[in-house]
Amino acid sequence: MKIITSIFELNKEIKDYKNVGFVPTMGGIHAGHKSLIKASQNKKSKTIVSIFVNPTQFNKRDDFKKYPRNIRKDIAILKKMNVEYLFKPSAREIYKFKAKKFNLKKKDKILCAKFRTGHFEGVLNVMNRLMTIVKSKDLYMGEKDYQQLYLIKKFLSKKFKARINSCPTVRVNKNIALSTRNKLLKTNSLKKAAEIALFLKKIKYKSKLHGPKLASNLSDYKKKLENKYNIKIDYLEFRDEKNLKLNNFKSNYRLFVAYNIDNVRLIDNF
Ligand code: AMP
Repeated sequence: MKIITSIFELNKEIKDYKNVGFVPTMGGIHAGHKSLIKASQNKKSKTIVSIFVNPTQFNKRDDFKKYPRNIRKDIAILKKMNVEYLFKPSAREIYKFKAKKFNLKKKDKILCAKFRTGHFEGVLNVMNRLMTIVKSKDLYMGEKDYQQLYLIKKFLSKKFKARINSCPTVRVNKNIALSTRNKLLKTNSLKKAAEIALFLKKIKYKSKLHGPKLASNLSDYKKKLENKYNIKIDYLEFRDEKNLKLNNFKSNYRLFVAYNIDNVRLIDNF
């Protein structure tokens, strides 16, 4: 595996991106990331993974500082998976050129955008830069971060004529979604998070049977979960898969959640 840290090196190394799939990450490689890499390897002859913990998407300095990093372990995993390229730039390298800034309109300030001011502006900024640098036409991204996927498709896929290939969420024992942030959780909180995921999965299932009635009970479920697990839920909402509008149970939808446990913010959708 070639480990590349500069744009210059990258351009020298990869001249033709036609058969290169791109998997952007913030590291702490887990089975969720691995599924994206495998999806790329199934379709493309080469894969480039980036690891960059992007400072501009963290709306809290402390969250950025404590974000789990383990580059040695990541490199070992990627090598074992026969990934051809790892792009591991510094913040200086990524932000050394001028690029468009993104502002979300009111209608996009929903779900996480409502609770994490500036977060998606930071995500779009860095993805715009990464897609300018890594000229792959096939990106592999997870449904775990559904709103991110939605916004990148909306704002960037046309500009770069790139396909954003979405991959299903990988879970532990069919409940808690794998996430680098899980490493920050105490064992007891991990257990709670797994129970919460199972509960929400059931609600989603029930909603298929009694849609509108269940939607009107959602705030009760929210309170119940908050009290039982001593967590703070930012949102628990059914939204349309296609446009993230509040759902009317007529088209495909998902149940979106974000909550804080042990001072760690977890997001998921079912
Ligand atoms: P991150 O390193 O958390 O920024 O995630 C990098 C990519 O991996 C994003 O496209 C995420 O949506 C995706 N991802 C994170 N967790 C999972 C998971 N449990 N299953 C599938 N994809 C995931």
